[in-house]
Amino acid sequence: MAAGRAAECGARVLLLEKNSAAGRKLLMTGNGRCNLTQKEDNVRELVKKYHNGAFLFSASHAFGPRRVIEFFEECGVRTKEEELQRVFPISNKAIDVLNALLDYLKAGKVTIKYNAIVKRIESKNGRIDAVILADGTKLNAKKVILSTGGQSYPSTGSTGDGWKWLRDLGHTVVEPKPALVPLKVKETWVKELKGVSLQNVDVKVIKNKKTIAKTNGDFIFTHFGVSGPAILTVSREAVAALAGDCRAPSDYARNDKKGMDVSLQIDLLPETTIEKLDRHLSASSKEFAAKSAKHVLDGLASSRLAEALIELAKIDPRKQCGQITKVERQTLVSLMKSMTLTVIGSLGFEVAMVTSGGVDVKEVDPKTMQSKLIDNLFFAGEVLDVDGPTGGYNLQMCWSTGFAAGSSV
Ligand SMILES: Cc1cc2nc3c(=O)[nH]c(=O)nc-3n(C[C@H](O)[C@H](O)[C@H](O)COP(=O)(O)OP(=O)(O)OC[C@H]3O[C@@H](n4cnc5c(N)ncnc54)[C@H](O)[C@@H]3O)c2cc1C
Repeated sequence: MAAGRAAECGARVLLLEKNSAAGRKLLMTGNGRCNLTQKEDNVRELVKKYHNGAFLFSASHAFGPRRVIEFFEECGVRTKEEELQRVFPISNKAIDVLNALLDYLKAGKVTIKYNAIVKRIESKNGRIDAVILADGTKLNAKKVILSTGGQSYPSTGSTGDGWKWLRDLGHTVVEPKPALVPLKVKETWVKELKGVSLQNVDVKVIKNKKTIAKTNGDFIFTHFGVSGPAILTVSREAVAALAGDCRAPSDYARNDKKGMDVSLQIDLLPETTIEKLDRHLSASSKEFAAKSAKHVLDGLASSRLAEALIELAKIDPRKQCGQITKVERQTLVSLMKSMTLTVIGSLGFEVAMVTSGGVDVKEVDPKTMQSKLIDNLFFAGEVLDVDGPTGGYNLQMCWSTGFAAGSSV
């Protein structure tokens, strides 16, 4: 987007890409369908959803979701809106989005150099002087846009290279951490529930007894812990809380530091109060008096989940519903209203959908994406310390910052 827009505005553009093809990550987005934006036309509401959202206000105003949709429609990518205002190509093919961008580059006569691994950036008198490739090629340009992405899914080429150069150039890089990432939990019983999913649960992240994030959404148990949209949404805060005073990225995978206590509290039935649930279970234990204990949860939990809850509540599964005691019933209520899972880590950068952290936005002009430290350097995309939830937010901010950077160079 940045390269195409710069060319459209009249610049002569060379795009350097270390892979042998463009848009490797883009092709994976939205499970290959590319959730290309989030149809929130109120810019104030849109930017609220991001970490450092205020930084995006100008860029989102100039090139917000409506302009993005128009842009792709003009490039021949017809779009559709799905639930939660997520926008996809009608074809359900991410490759159509990539091809539209490649056509945009072609129309602007952008030269693309593939297999061009940037190794270093040299500066002189507060300006970028040269870009050095791995094969030793030295390139000069009046202006440089850096859009090397984050360091999630490194197999796609996003390995956080840009941040090293930027640190050397004097920029502050906020410690990168995995975000929108499944979480590992300590409780081994979750493995037994692998594949069990729940809709519309309330999830809170608790650190040292304080709620630091909460959301509502779908949730799934996995062989290592928990995942699903609700977990991905709060994973940023959970990972940051776990990191605590850790320094090395590998430390993000541990929750064994003294005093560090990060947990998830899950309300499986947010529509029901504790009292109502207790009354419901009390009625069920009478209705299904002669049936085995797990049937007290009929209509509230799937058979596998019910079995697990009965076991967690330390109720003998052979017991009949009618024999469940008040204390056992209350334990079940508490498990369902505030199931607690101890977070011990995340699945890390390998599978995180985005990276939180990156170039400190205080050092970047939000209108032009120009570095405040280096005159002829600009930024676009995930390399910046801005990240959003799932739902098209992250690509939206790539388009808008790319458009701003391209327009200003
Ligand atoms: C599985 C998955 C699904 C996703 N789905 C969605 C979705 O549906 N909707 C959404 O909004 N977001 C989604 N995201 C997030 C979104 O894909 C990213 O936020 C976005 O791709 C970031 O774009 P970018 O251009 O900043 O960086 P990237 O897409 O990471 O591109 C950076 C490019 O720079 C190149 N590069 C890096 N270092 C060098 C170097 N040294 N020399 C030369 N080139 C280099 C890389 O090869 C790469 O091509 C998803 C992410 C993942 C991993």
